Amino acid sequence: MSFNLQNSIRENVKALKPYSSARDEYVSDGSEMIFLDANENPFENGVNRYPDPQQRSLKAVLADQKGIHAENILLGNGSDEVLDLLFRAFCEPHVDKVISLPPTYGMYKVLAAINTIENKEIQLTKAFQPDVQKILDVTDDTSKILFLCSPNNPTGNSFSEESIVALLKKFSGLVVIDEAYIDFAANESWVARLHDFPNLIVTQTLSKAYGMAGIRLGICMASKEIIAVLNKIKPPYNVNGLTQLKALERVLATKTVADEVKHILYEREQLIIELRQISFIETIYPTDANFVLVKVDDADKRYQQLLKKGIVIRNRSTQPLCENTLRLTIGTASENEKLIKTLNEITNE
Ligand SMILES: *Cc1c(COP(=O)(O)O)cnc(C)c1O
Repeated sequence: MSFNLQNSIRENVKALKPYSSARDEYVSDGSEMIFLDANENPFENGVNRYPDPQQRSLKAVLADQKGIHAENILLGNGSDEVLDLLFRAFCEPHVDKVISLPPTYGMYKVLAAINTIENKEIQLTKAFQPDVQKILDVTDDTSKILFLCSPNNPTGNSFSEESIVALLKKFSGLVVIDEAYIDFAANESWVARLHDFPNLIVTQTLSKAYGMAGIRLGICMASKEIIAVLNKIKPPYNVNGLTQLKALERVLATKTVADEVKHILYEREQLIIELRQISFIETIYPTDANFVLVKVDDADKRYQQLLKKGIVIRNRSTQPLCENTLRLTIGTASENEKLIKTLNEITNE
């Protein structure tokens, strides 16, 4: 079995004639025009007009930064919308399935359930790497999407290049590499390999390294054929005007973003040194992200103790392979100091 995009698209999507909005039909060339086409209120206030449905200014900058073309990019209302569009374009309810690799990001499973798609779970190995053979063993022609979260949430590690390449070559459906944390990782993005693998989809977000979780902007990068399918089904104005404006400002502020990432990486290193001194922390897992997963003596107890002292972290103990684990996001220097001070205080409680 090898990947074939036409066979992957749902029949109703293939047959669909997309809704054409006013802003799709007439694209302004910047000259003075009178817009009486979209039933907008004509009094200018900054947001009285519908936003650009194709987010061209933002995509032009992103394309340039990522070394791809604008037609290789689809933007969404957070990665969560992008992932949902993938289900709706490629997975036939009650028929198709997806494969995800727990412990991992919870949204793959939730979106599968919402779209009535079976989510086949193949646990990561003990080293938190994909079990390539097991994944291929359960794959059949209804296996439409494989979700690889790398760096993985909540474990923090990146998947090996070797296993990702093997899956890209041998998995017959689409392979989504969720790179929400790529800006904190030592290895480079898989975007550079889009030309090598027609079934590769890379998703990124402005929610983590870019510090813009509040504006909701998710980025999907793939072949122009895959992007064209997603464009056909996306809501016309899925990325609002304020988000486009804020996102553009931020992606142009490359030095500020790079400095913040550098700072977070430095803090991550410092925090890990301090965590090694906490006696009830048994394992600190290697991380390529802006968080660190630790194994403790009693996760429920430690979680409650921190909460009482005003520090909210994530207890990941219900996830497979994650018994008694806590996930700690890297904060500012003073937040991290407070965390360490509090971890010391609760050690003997
Ligand atoms: C945080 C996170 C996202 C981001 O989702 P948005 O909807 O873009 O905020 C995506 N994937 C993973 C694995 C994450 O941890």
